[in-house]
Amino acid sequence: MTSIGLNQLKQYLEYLNLSGVEDVYISKRQLPDPAIRLAELEEAFRNCTKCELHQERDKFVYGEGNPQARMVLIGEGPGAEENATGKPFIGKAGQLLTKMLQAINIERDDVYITNVVKCRPPNNRNPLSSEVQSCLPYLDEQLEIISPQLLLLLGRVAAESLLELDQPLKSYRGQTHEYKGITTYVTYHPSALLRNPAWKKFAWVDLQKVRDHYQQLDV
Ligand code: SF4
Repeated sequence: MTSIGLNQLKQYLEYLNLSGVEDVYISKRQLPDPAIRLAELEEAFRNCTKCELHQERDKFVYGEGNPQARMVLIGEGPGAEENATGKPFIGKAGQLLTKMLQAINIERDDVYITNVVKCRPPNNRNPLSSEVQSCLPYLDEQLEIISPQLLLLLGRVAAESLLELDQPLKSYRGQTHEYKGITTYVTYHPSALLRNPAWKKFAWVDLQKVRDHYQQLDV
């Protein structure tokens, strides 16, 4: 089968719509390759101005990793180094995240890593709820394309944004949740662990549960 890009697909759907076709059923196997779809969406949205966070943005930080990952890790938003490079989790917190994954026998390249908001909040403040709502459709689209079996939310902002609960982080941990039908775990953001090393032992408990679940996933 000939593979087509997202733009061509959109044009074809518009043509069908103008021709009076209202419903089209597409099998997942007929859609463009996930890596191509993600790359096209990243390109399409990199100049987004839907919320005020675009005003101080240097680089849009869409996400990176395996486009067919079984697990997606979701943090809160880009920091200074991520804003400068366009890559998620590459500063000290990112290095710790890589070590956390390796501790449960998962390589960083095996998973997909992104954030709830794709542009850096000034002075690393928490994103406002209106900013999260503006950006969430991008994350939902990424999840639809990658189709992971597990999510790991890093920190309270990510948990609150996706699970729509207003609770201390510890009450999200120790149980699984569901987002868009995907089993979801919550643990500490690596930045919080750098500030509070004593919490690493709690994160390790969470990570072992994630590891046990990850090892049972369909390949
Ligand atoms: S944070 Fe998201 S919604 Fe806001 S400008 Fe950036 S990409 Fe657009």
